Amino acid sequence: MEKKVLEKLVYGLFVLTARMDDYDNGCIINTAQQVAFNPDIICIAVNKSSYTHDMILATGTFNISVISEQADFALFQRFGYQTGREADKFNGFTAWKRSDNGITYITQGTNAYISAKVIHYVSTNTHTIFMARIEEEGHISGEPSATYDFYQQKIKQPVEVQPKTEPEGKIVWVCKICGYVYEGEELPEDFVCPICKHPAADFEKVIN
Ligand code: FE
Repeated sequence: MEKKVLEKLVYGLFVLTARMDDYDNGCIINTAQQVAFNPDIICIAVNKSSYTHDMILATGTFNISVISEQADFALFQRFGYQTGREADKFNGFTAWKRSDNGITYITQGTNAYISAKVIHYVSTNTHTIFMARIEEEGHISGEPSATYDFYQQKIKQPVEVQPKTEPEGKIVWVCKICGYVYEGEELPEDFVCPICKHPAADFEKVIN
């Protein structure tokens, strides 16, 4: 099947980290680009529902760690499928260091990190686009960067959905990536999982 036009754009994957009131947090984003040089400027787009977004808006600083093809699915589960408002994503996690700005960056399943300071931002309906000046950068490994397509094909691990043993005939749609349950006969074609952000194609119809 032909890809939708917007799906032909190439996206990378990044762990976006921030720190506020001695609390470390992070999320996964797929949009980070260098957009100017001398001085070096990057742009990132961050979903407004994420707590990392609010922390960056308040502090004006962040790090991005570039996810490599060696990354485990567990990295995505840790930083992508839970919210820093409820869970400490760094709890029990040791693969990180701090850059000079005091913010963490990820040292496993990544190949580089960048520290940046926000100089401008634009608010859209769903995302804030932050323009930021690069203040520090470093290499972590020589592994190739993971694209969003690579993640979809090689990293994500859909699970088999188990229907109830004694179904009551109720139709639901279960996300094969994170287990989120959508109640309803039909799943909208453009549905995106509110937890892990995977598309309708990653849902399975189950009779419960
Ligand atoms: Fe999901």
